[in-house]
Amino acid sequence: MSVQPVQVLEADVLVVGGGAAACMAAISADAEGASVLVVDKGQLGKSGCSPNAHGGMAMHHKLPGDSWRVHMEDTLMGGGFMNDQELVRIMCQEAPRFIRRLEEFGSLFDRDPDGTYSVRKFGGHRYARSVFSGDETGHEMMIGLRREVLRRGIHVLDEVMATRLLTRDGTVVGAFGWGVGDGGFYEARAPSVVLATADAAGIWPSASERQRGDGFVMALEAGAELLDLEFIQYHPTHAWWPFGVRGSVSESFRSEGGHLLNAAGERFMAWYDPEKMELATRDRVSVAIMEEIRAGRGAPHGGIFASVAHLPAEQVEQRLRVIFRKYLSYGYDIRKEPIEVRPRPHYHCGGVRITAQGAATVPGLFAAGAVAAGVHGANRLGTNALVDILVFGEITGRSAARRAAQAGPSPGNPMQAAEEAQRIDELANRPFDGGVPVPPLRRRHIELMDQHMGVIRTGTGMRAMLKEVERAKGEDLPRLAIRDKARRYNYELRDGLEVHFRLAVEEMAARAALLRTESRGCHYREDLPRRNDGGWLKNIGFVMRDGRLEMFTRDLKTDVIPLEALPEYAHSDSPWH
Ligand SMILES: Cc1cc2nc3c(=O)[nH]c(=O)nc-3n(C[C@H](O)[C@H](O)[C@H](O)COP(=O)(O)OP(=O)(O)OC[C@H]3O[C@@H](n4cnc5c(N)ncnc54)[C@H](O)[C@@H]3O)c2cc1C
Repeated sequence: MSVQPVQVLEADVLVVGGGAAACMAAISADAEGASVLVVDKGQLGKSGCSPNAHGGMAMHHKLPGDSWRVHMEDTLMGGGFMNDQELVRIMCQEAPRFIRRLEEFGSLFDRDPDGTYSVRKFGGHRYARSVFSGDETGHEMMIGLRREVLRRGIHVLDEVMATRLLTRDGTVVGAFGWGVGDGGFYEARAPSVVLATADAAGIWPSASERQRGDGFVMALEAGAELLDLEFIQYHPTHAWWPFGVRGSVSESFRSEGGHLLNAAGERFMAWYDPEKMELATRDRVSVAIMEEIRAGRGAPHGGIFASVAHLPAEQVEQRLRVIFRKYLSYGYDIRKEPIEVRPRPHYHCGGVRITAQGAATVPGLFAAGAVAAGVHGANRLGTNALVDILVFGEITGRSAARRAAQAGPSPGNPMQAAEEAQRIDELANRPFDGGVPVPPLRRRHIELMDQHMGVIRTGTGMRAMLKEVERAKGEDLPRLAIRDKARRYNYELRDGLEVHFRLAVEEMAARAALLRTESRGCHYREDLPRRNDGGWLKNIGFVMRDGRLEMFTRDLKTDVIPLEALPEYAHSDSPWH
């Protein structure tokens, strides 16, 4: 028995997460008349990637020639044709509606003198279609979404980490949570559970370190299928020098006309993608940067130069206001001098397999936003994430509310909740001496993932990674030990609970990457550098059966836009668009 009681909470729809997907799902479920409980590991509106998104939201709405279909074609080619076409179609058709929706919630976006929304062009998009609020689009978006969640009186529980989904007879009936802030245990019962916990890019040395794969593994262990875990996107321009500046340097830096330069001052993208140059897709730019660095043409501190010094100072100050101010606070004036950047992990394209209604493959479970797979395929186009999370947040919240109305109240699963409370108590109370401490394990695995599962991969490296993961699962995981015995704000315990999620994602990513004997999108294998459409127009997936992990492949459905409809892409065997 756990030393602490488990507090029971009840709702029609439980939303796990506090980013934009979670807020949109909660608003939409509330609008359908459901009672909604939101549980966030951090604080609603501040946690996750959403408030940190910079550059914009892609939606065709302005330029002649642009349409949902052109946006969809761009998304498929950028995504290595691995995308779920039905999901992409819905996103591209629905996206333009959401700018007004956000404005109704109180967000504001930049406009041109004629009153239309300002747009910029991001890598892989043939048209300028991304609306924005300077380079703080996510912050502005979250102001409106949070305000709307609070206005509706939706029950929000901040600083509660879901650690396990509760099931009964193969149906999800709620979730178990540990209170990061109060140390309490919670059994949240609901006939519909929406996961909006984002992806797993944070198990690499991520640009944000916010996405830890919790939702992937909780869904898998509850019986859901996961897809596309081999595709991890590196953001090409992560802040590298001057030292101390953190985070990614938004793609708006390149979109506004920024240059990437090697040590000789050459715009090297001319050799890798002379047509798109700096606005090639992120997978292509990341490999080009790493190849320049490996060839000894990198910048002095190990990155590559990025410069907007040739642009009008006013443009930099106004359109790149966050980057400009951030660097200025470190004594660097980007209007006058270049900075150094280097690719860093940014977004895991894979995740929970969902239907067009946002349902996972296990009854009672839904997934929205970066935790879900399918929209972005093998590589996400910049500014497609925010529209994905809004469109599918809304759809999923609605579907979850309707299912809850049919299913009736959830009985939860007190036995599973008690087991989980006991597991956490046992980890927290285990003697530290003689155990495996969490911080060095975390650090070592972050470095190994970067080395073996990073921008440029080889079979040998990925096999080494898999071997280390198997070792760590067998030897380290059962002996993890937490030095800090506090029950409130014990971040070591939180990190310790995440090790289980981390190792499961590492294993699946390495297994899928080894199985995929080709290069495509973010999965670039130096030993197999070409794309093989003959053999690999397939998703790789995982499911748990009787406690065992099974890997499977699934043929792609290409019924909206067949490959032959994109002849230039179809006739190439380049991994990138
Ligand atoms: C620096 C940066 C800039 C970006 N810029 C852009 C851009 O300009 N345009 C664009 O389209 N995309 C951009 N992206 C990507 C985009 O921001 C994300 O993909 C998107 O915001 C994800 O939204 P989400 O709601 O799915 O997840 P998030 O916003 O990441 O929220 C996840 C939530 O889940 C919670 N959570 C996680 N685990 C648990 C758990 N176990 N229990 C309870 N809660 C949990 C977290 O606390 C968090 O609140 C950017 C990303 C980053 C990091």
